[in-house]
Amino acid sequence: MIDLRSDTVTQPTPGMMAAMMGARVGDDVFGEDPTVNALEQRTAALFGLEAGLFVPSGTMANQIAVRVHCRTQDEILLETTSHICLWEAGGAAALSGVTLRTLDSPTGDGLLGDSDFADKVRPDDMHSVRTRLVCLENTHNRGGGTVYSPDAINAISRWARHHKLGMHLDGARVWNAIVKTGVPAKVWGSMFDTVNVCFSKGLGTPVGSMLLGPKDLIAHGRRVRKLFGGAMRQIGFLAAACDYALDHHISRLAEDHANAKVVADAVAEVPGFTLKPHEVETNLVWFEVDARHGSAKEVAERLKAKGVLVAPLGTRVIRAVTHLDVSREQCMKAAEAIHSLV
Ligand SMILES: *Cc1c(COP(=O)(O)O)cnc(C)c1O
Repeated sequence: MIDLRSDTVTQPTPGMMAAMMGARVGDDVFGEDPTVNALEQRTAALFGLEAGLFVPSGTMANQIAVRVHCRTQDEILLETTSHICLWEAGGAAALSGVTLRTLDSPTGDGLLGDSDFADKVRPDDMHSVRTRLVCLENTHNRGGGTVYSPDAINAISRWARHHKLGMHLDGARVWNAIVKTGVPAKVWGSMFDTVNVCFSKGLGTPVGSMLLGPKDLIAHGRRVRKLFGGAMRQIGFLAAACDYALDHHISRLAEDHANAKVVADAVAEVPGFTLKPHEVETNLVWFEVDARHGSAKEVAERLKAKGVLVAPLGTRVIRAVTHLDVSREQCMKAAEAIHSLV
C-alpha cells in the first residue's frame, strides 16, 4: 500500500531509532531529562524565542497556548477552517472558556490579510467578550498546505500589537513553510509571541510537539501542561527522535513538495477532479470529486483497490499527503492509479 492519508503515518528510521535508544533520560516532571531540556533550548533558539515546552501533541500545544494567552470571556480571532477551530474537539471552549471568532479567508486557501482584521476588536463593554488573541496557521492544512508570506504575517502582527493582542502561530507544519520559502525559522518566530511546532508530521518522529515563547508564558504553560495531563517522565527517548529530525529531516521536505506535485498533476488530469487550491505549494494535495465519480469515500475505495490510500475528509473532498515514507517512484505509481480513474 502507498499510504498518502497523512504525513503522520511515518515509521521512525533506523537512524532515528538508534538516536532514541542512545538517549540520556531523566524524570522530566522534575525538570531532569537532559535530552528534553536540550531540545527545548535548541528549538526555542531556532525560532529566536526564549523557552520551549515539549508536549505530546500539537493539539495540546495549541490548547496550552490558548490557556496562557486568554482568560474566560476572552475571544480569539482565527480563520474559519483552522485546525484550532475544526479539529481540536472544542478545546478552547471546553478547557479555557474562550470563544472563537472565525474570519473567512477571502482567497479561499486559509490565508488572511491584515484588512480581514479591521474592526474585529470588540468594544470595551460588559456585553462583549474581550478580544485577546490572534491565531494564524502556517502552512495552512485545510487551506491546502498553503504558505503565508512573511510580509502578510508582519502586517497582521503589527495590527495585533497595536491593539495589544497576543499572536500565536499554529506552526505544526511550519517546517514546510520554511523549506518552501527559504525564510528562516527566526523570521517567522519574530512575528509571534508563541509558536507551536510539530515533530511527528513532516519531520517523521513517533511523538512530539513543542510550544515556544517567552519565559513567563512557557512557565505558566508548564503548569497548564500538568493540568491537561501532559507532563511525562523519561521522555528524552522521544526528544532524541525530535533532535535527530531537526538534523536530518528538514531540508528533505523539498522532496515531499516535489512528490506532491507529481500526485497533483495526475489529479488535475482527471475530468471531474478539481485541485483546491489549484497550485500545490507544499506536501498536501486537496481535491474535490464531482458526482460522476460518486462520493469521496467511493473514490478512496477505488484507489485503495489499486494500492493507494488517500483520506476522504468530506462527501466530496479528498486529501493526499506526501511524506518521508513515500518515494518518488511510489508517488509516480499513485499518479498512475489516479490516472486510471479517468
Ligand atoms: C496536525 C495539526 C495539529 C495537531 O497536531 P496533533 O499532534 O495531531 O494534535 C495542529 N495544527 C495543524 C495545522 C496540524 O496540521
